[in-house]
Amino acid sequence: MIKIENVNFTYADGTQALFTVSCEFHSDHLFAVLGESGSGKTTLLNCLGRFLHPQEGTIKLDGEDISTMSEKAFRQKLGVVFQKLHLFPHLNILQNMLLAPKVVQGRHETELKKEATAMLERLGIADLAESYPTQVSGGQAQRAAIARGLMLQPEYLLLDEPTSALDARTSAEFAQWLKELHEETHFIVVTHDLPFAQLIAQKGIYMENGRIVHEGDIETITKTAAKYSV
Ligand code: ADP
Ligand code: MG
Repeated sequence: MIKIENVNFTYADGTQALFTVSCEFHSDHLFAVLGESGSGKTTLLNCLGRFLHPQEGTIKLDGEDISTMSEKAFRQKLGVVFQKLHLFPHLNILQNMLLAPKVVQGRHETELKKEATAMLERLGIADLAESYPTQVSGGQAQRAAIARGLMLQPEYLLLDEPTSALDARTSAEFAQWLKELHEETHFIVVTHDLPFAQLIAQKGIYMENGRIVHEGDIETITKTAAKYSV
């Protein structure tokens, strides 16, 4: 479980992006972090991923304060797939997948190659192993980035706007795929895409101006959010 308590975050230019944010993400659910653009979703994700450090408040991962965890222990528990994916353009998909486990976990390439190949097969993108990021479609790159994220076998994987490069049909396929993976990995999905959130998540939060204004069942949240946007 991830427990966020009274988190405040202000950027260096003085913009406060999170105002006393508190919530819990339970491991038995796929969570959605919803809200319009600029509401603080990515800031929250970056605080959870330790890329930003809140000035106040605490974030606990299975009871441990993330600010005091070692880098290795933390990265093995929690992974992040950024909106821009950050696939290395000079490496093919397979090489992209091998890099972090080699560097972070010091594992051997032969064994990793077997695992990566099996993972790509399972995800239905085995034929992409030798392709470079610029040679694949948006949906394929999204899957490849998640496949790479899963190589460290994190307990939690955070995804920022995973449908931003996908059309409606690919989003629906992707939703199905995420649900299957959710058996093994807990996902927290940051999205402004309400229909997509309805397809994947049971629980979530809705943010506005750096505050959580709704939390609970996704059905209730999306109904309330839809009322706002009319
Ligand atoms: P969302 O992901 O929901 O679109 P963000 O977390 O990116 O929202 O942004 C929340 C607020 O913080 C916005 O007002 C945004 O302009 C501001 N913000 C985001 N990044 C920075 C930054 N690097 N420096 C200053 N302000 C920022
Ligand atoms: Mg964002």
